[in-house]
Amino acid sequence: MSNKKCIRIAWPTPLPRLYTAPMALAWLRRDLRAQGNPLLEDGALPVYVHDPSAAGDWAPGGASAWWLARSLEALARYLPALRVLPGPAEEVLPRLAAEVGARAVRYTPAFEPWRRAEEARVLSALARAGVAAVPTQGAYLFAPGSVVKADGTPYRVFTPFYKACVALLEVPGTAPPRCADGQRVPRAGAEDVSFVCPPARWQAKLAQHWTPGESGARAALARFTQGPLPRYAADRNRLDIPDAASRLSPHLAWGEISPQEILTAVWGRPGAEAFIRQLIWREFAAQMLWHFPDMPAAPLQPAFARFPWARDEGALEAWRRGRTGEPLVDTAMAELWETGTMHNRARMVVASFLTKNLLQPWQDGQRWFWDTLVDADLANNAFGWQWVAGCGADAAPYFRIFNPRTQAEKFDPTGAYRDRWAPALSPPPLVDLAASRARALAAYQDMRA
Ligand SMILES: Cc1cc2nc3c(=O)[nH]c(=O)nc-3n(C[C@H](O)[C@H](O)[C@H](O)COP(=O)(O)OP(=O)(O)OC[C@H]3O[C@@H](n4cnc5c(N)ncnc54)[C@H](O)[C@@H]3O)c2cc1C
Repeated sequence: MSNKKCIRIAWPTPLPRLYTAPMALAWLRRDLRAQGNPLLEDGALPVYVHDPSAAGDWAPGGASAWWLARSLEALARYLPALRVLPGPAEEVLPRLAAEVGARAVRYTPAFEPWRRAEEARVLSALARAGVAAVPTQGAYLFAPGSVVKADGTPYRVFTPFYKACVALLEVPGTAPPRCADGQRVPRAGAEDVSFVCPPARWQAKLAQHWTPGESGARAALARFTQGPLPRYAADRNRLDIPDAASRLSPHLAWGEISPQEILTAVWGRPGAEAFIRQLIWREFAAQMLWHFPDMPAAPLQPAFARFPWARDEGALEAWRRGRTGEPLVDTAMAELWETGTMHNRARMVVASFLTKNLLQPWQDGQRWFWDTLVDADLANNAFGWQWVAGCGADAAPYFRIFNPRTQAEKFDPTGAYRDRWAPALSPPPLVDLAASRARALAAYQDMRA
């Protein structure tokens, strides 16, 4: 990778000053940071509108809601002016704009279908109220729909998408992220965010593993760039090497750090190329969701709508609870339950086991991940599940079935991952690996017949 390039990103041009007078609102959604946040420039008043009903089926799950509440608390310490208000956003934002005399609302265009629908309602309400709505750069490197093939159609294969993105990336600026003032309308006392996520006992343990908020995000980035980055390509798949990857995903999910800032930190360093490739997978998943809003519900390959799943609530529950009797699967599900995360390699193994060996629909696994992952992200989650199930974009040309035992030998050779998370007692295996593999291949042939 040349270090001569700089980032040229396909986002709308910066906000003309005209629109900011006398004051703008910064409508924060997945932009929960004070530093390096263009929404907050010129003292815009930050507001987060919490409206799980607008999200329908995709309101934050348990782990993600815990993260969100902690992240908002952390942000309120940086930005005492932050308002956290119950929705709906299309009522709250015009009302608040009128109350404080704001003539513009800045926002970052969304990728998720429900956020796009919410955004459309907000934009028309603001237009009716005579308040300008100003899009700005957000939680991704590339704006929704901005990386497409020459004929204007979306990329469905990763490598050409990656090349197109790399061609658009140029040298990151070295300026440190600007600090927002955002405090023109100070408030007494910290904002109460308890309505965002009432405390629940099982979530308490997440705090042992994570520090939500932008200081946690910057600490994770510093740990990664000063430590594992040079060995990232070699170690990222190793289950037995703790923290070989960045652990930035939940911070990215809520925009506590921007991908631009991460790029700037890693650019030109040994190991950066493999890592940037993963950041571009994230862009790919988001662009796919934007082009195919049904991605969380329907297979990207329509033939898979006929796949003969063998629904079995008992098998699904055994998988969720890590009681399948398959050691690597149960170990990984225990890691998820204890920490709110799971190693990427393990995500692939447990997803393959659920959809292939147990023949349960990928949407059911996606739902459990949604509820239990601190980094739950509609695009990455749906994309990951479809990819493993074989029905997604850029899936293997054959029906790949991971063998959890050979995966353990290869990626947990020292057994340290098993020793750390494996449940003390293991039930007998729920399925025979060879027989369930043959059943999955037969189901695949049925679908294709
Ligand atoms: C079935 C399945 C479900 C998944 N669900 C999610 C999810 O809900 N949220 C989520 O953020 N990731 C998801 N992933 C992708 C990946 O597992 C996580 O992003 C990664 O494990 C996070 O750890 P990290 O931050 O240490 O990653 P690193 O290896 O340090 O990567 C850096 C960043 O790149 C992005 N990234 C890495 N791998 C992928 C990938 N395969 N696809 C898209 N982006 C990627 C993430 O934002 C990550 O933080 C899923 C993968 C699978 C197979």
